[in-house]
Amino acid sequence: MKTWVYLFDEVSKAEKYAGSWDSVRALLGGKGAGLFDMTRAGVPVPPGFTITTEACNKFRETGKFPAGMWSQAIAAMKVTEKRAGKKFGDPRNPLLVSCRSGSKFSMPGMMNTILNIGLNDKVVEGMITLTKNPRFVWDLYRRLIEMFGTTVFNLDDEVFEHPMAEYKAKRGYKVDVEMTADDWKALVVTFKAVFKKHIGNDFPQDVYKQLELATKAVFESWNGKRAVDYRRATSIPDDLGTAVNIVTMVFGNMGDDSGTGVAFTRNPSTGEKKMMGEYLLNAQGEDVVAGIRNADAIEHLKQDMPKAYKQFMDITAKLEKHYKDMQDVEFTIERGRLWMLQTRNGKRTAKSAVKIAVDMAQEGLITKEQAVQRVTPDNVDSMLHPQFDLDAMENAEKTGTFFSKGVNASPGAAVGQVYFDADTAEKMAREEKQDTIMVRPFTKPDDVHGMIASKGVLTSEGGATSHAAVVARQFGIPCVVGASAIKIDLEDRVMTVGEIVVKEGEWISVDGTTGKVFLGKIPTSSPSLEEQTELLTLLKWADDICARKDIREAQANGYPTRGLQVWANADYPKDAQRARSYGAVGIGLCRTEHMFFEPERLPIVQDMILSESSEGRTAALDKLLPYQRKDFDGLFEAMDGYPVIIRLIDPPLHEFMPDEEKLLEEVITMRVKHESAGLQEKEDLLAAIRRLHESNPMMGLRGVRLSISMPEIVEMQVRAIFEAAADCTNRGIKVKPEVMIPLTGTVKELEWIQPRLIRIAAAVMQEKKVKFEYKFGTMIEIPRAAVTAAEVAAHAEFFSFGTNDLTQMTYGYSRDDAERNFLITYQEQGILEKNPFQTLDRAGVGKLMDWAIAEGRKTRPNLEVGICGEHGGDPSSIEWCHMIGNNYVSCSPFRVPIARLAAAHSALKHRPMGQKSMAKVNKKATVKKTGVKTKRSTKKK
Ligand code: ADP
Ligand code: MG
Ligand code: MG
Repeated sequence: MKTWVYLFDEVSKAEKYAGSWDSVRALLGGKGAGLFDMTRAGVPVPPGFTITTEACNKFRETGKFPAGMWSQAIAAMKVTEKRAGKKFGDPRNPLLVSCRSGSKFSMPGMMNTILNIGLNDKVVEGMITLTKNPRFVWDLYRRLIEMFGTTVFNLDDEVFEHPMAEYKAKRGYKVDVEMTADDWKALVVTFKAVFKKHIGNDFPQDVYKQLELATKAVFESWNGKRAVDYRRATSIPDDLGTAVNIVTMVFGNMGDDSGTGVAFTRNPSTGEKKMMGEYLLNAQGEDVVAGIRNADAIEHLKQDMPKAYKQFMDITAKLEKHYKDMQDVEFTIERGRLWMLQTRNGKRTAKSAVKIAVDMAQEGLITKEQAVQRVTPDNVDSMLHPQFDLDAMENAEKTGTFFSKGVNASPGAAVGQVYFDADTAEKMAREEKQDTIMVRPFTKPDDVHGMIASKGVLTSEGGATSHAAVVARQFGIPCVVGASAIKIDLEDRVMTVGEIVVKEGEWISVDGTTGKVFLGKIPTSSPSLEEQTELLTLLKWADDICARKDIREAQANGYPTRGLQVWANADYPKDAQRARSYGAVGIGLCRTEHMFFEPERLPIVQDMILSESSEGRTAALDKLLPYQRKDFDGLFEAMDGYPVIIRLIDPPLHEFMPDEEKLLEEVITMRVKHESAGLQEKEDLLAAIRRLHESNPMMGLRGVRLSISMPEIVEMQVRAIFEAAADCTNRGIKVKPEVMIPLTGTVKELEWIQPRLIRIAAAVMQEKKVKFEYKFGTMIEIPRAAVTAAEVAAHAEFFSFGTNDLTQMTYGYSRDDAERNFLITYQEQGILEKNPFQTLDRAGVGKLMDWAIAEGRKTRPNLEVGICGEHGGDPSSIEWCHMIGNNYVSCSPFRVPIARLAAAHSALKHRPMGQKSMAKVNKKATVKKTGVKTKRSTKKK
């Protein structure tokens, strides 16, 4: 006969059946497993038993308890009766129990629990005689009827709460404590009538019937709406099911020598190593959580009940050591005697997660590796964005300054003045030094300057993969998208939600973490990495893991044995400085074309483009050279000692030209008005723009193709790079320039251009009489280059995967069109699991990368390989880069700390020794250091 029911002391039996502790948790649920584990450790837990999740799943399949389950439950009840010294349903000495849900992963408050089962009219009388406390007993009875009605029969709370409030009002009572025995007794009569009215039957007097109904209700609560929604949001699988824990009731409401409470062994919001909790004297479990009375801080228990307090502190310290993690516990004290009712790893904020992990490693409770593994990349992410003060936010909701809610696209808090277009937002930010929030229905690539200049971005359309969302994340700008309740009137420069109107220039607060938008200014605090000592420590440990010489298995020539390094994408010296302070050890991508856009340079660039001859172009470029040299000089200085990859010009030239339509309009107006001054220039410009027109510019004259058509541009760039590098070297700065040629499709392109550029590099070094290391390499962003990597590597000394273009060209999607038109549908229809522009597609794009690295290193074993697309900051993509043998990933400076942690996670997950043996190493280290021997770990040895 299959075992469906386990007594709390049958943990070995459950372990034998389930195999691992993880499977025990799946079988008995987290709450159950905790109760079993505590019972084994000698912690006082009221006797009871657990009906397994397997029984739940059978029940959900068939609508019936599986054969044998109920008789096993009754048998377990008999044993429990013996242990408790009471009898279920016996008025002379009654046993009451609770019937509690609990699945493998905690889903706090999402499923049902029913307390005080086993009371009926006769048992009530018996208990009154026994306890001489009629008030207590009538209170229990009304609680049972109410809970039964609301959880077993799904009645609305109101049907009970309303008559109770009325009753209290009639008596002039404010709080429950004022209720007398007779009051509760009267309410029991009322509640029974309510029950009968809504259910059609009397409240069940058969205690086993109560137990059966309650058990079914707990099983069924697995499919309750709340539970289902919670599982969706947290990716808990639907097929786990819930266990039912039947636990002898202990009473915190038997007078002032009784009480109940909940506590965390460390502070769940700050991580401080100090018990944080609340308790109530003379109350039952759910009262604390429900907030019926104001609870006392746990420290006060020391005065109220010194003995129980000491015991509680000892037990919780023991539990923390046993689970090696912060515990969230429930307890009840019955007439001075302490009982533990639950223990689980507590939920916590990002800040607390980091502090607890680091503290516990420093206390020797866990290893540094475990500490690194306990913190998620998301935790790091949310710690680096400014955040709204929680109290202030709650207060704002209460005082009616809530405005709207959308998709939380990019985390962090932003406060600023509203502007409805990119130009105005940028102007106000730059010229008026305002904090601005750019608000648009949606954003386009030419809105980016307004976004970057703003503190935050708000859109009324689009989802988490919309342009606004992607750009905001890239630049670490808090962003809420798709707040569809907002109506934006771009003409009148206002936005409205119902009656509320926000005019241009007014203040709002945008919370990218929750997706909420408020009117006015909500105070924020902005965490800086330097101040977050624990996070710095943790990231240092992460780096140490990656720097180990044996963390990766050398699979072939050149395959790195260390973990990934983290570099950053930075175009300006100030970005480079930030990247370094965030821990980047190289620049993986410096985009040079941004430098052409600055106001004083753009006219020179346009002159250059307009020149018909090579000489004309060179003359214009000569004027640009000093600017570029200065840009590079600053970068090398900021990255002293580290490699800097500079990408030569990439975009098509038309991007540097004015807008064609606007120009045409100007020309027409001038012609109509017969204005001649400057007309000729404008007409020439217009003609040039038309000459440059391409039907598909992104696949047209750009990247290396442009360089081959007009080598003067890149020749100037290389000269600027090497002159700057030489100057820096002369100033004692260690430079490692790496010149990156974009958009190579065939090695012949490199064969054509690279030698010319190398000659310039050599010439500059000779002129300046200095020598330094340098490299020439290429981006791999065209599938053909990946496929022919063995040939490409003959010239390229490094590869950097431009995974944005590589994804576009491998799928044949244009990113902007895909994200706007069909990507969301594709995800909804399950055609694509994830947005391949955010999470690298391992099966396609990833395969190409894998192939390119292996082939490239056949030609050039010491080929340096990196990634510089947005994927370089995405944890899953980083893991792939680790697996295929990248040397580094490069990402936005803001994501560097996240990538450092993700790189360490990848290294630990795929280390050659394997997970298992690592666990062994950790276990040894821990046991030795703390000297704590819990029963479980002793047994396993
Ligand atoms: P949740 O998972 O929602 O916390 P629980 O099953 O833990 O639900 O129970 C709800 C409340 O009832 C908790 O405060 C718990 O401590 C209390 N409780 C549960 N069983 C008992 C019991 N046998 N005796 C006393 N209090 C109990
Ligand atoms: Mg609980
Ligand atoms: Mg590209």
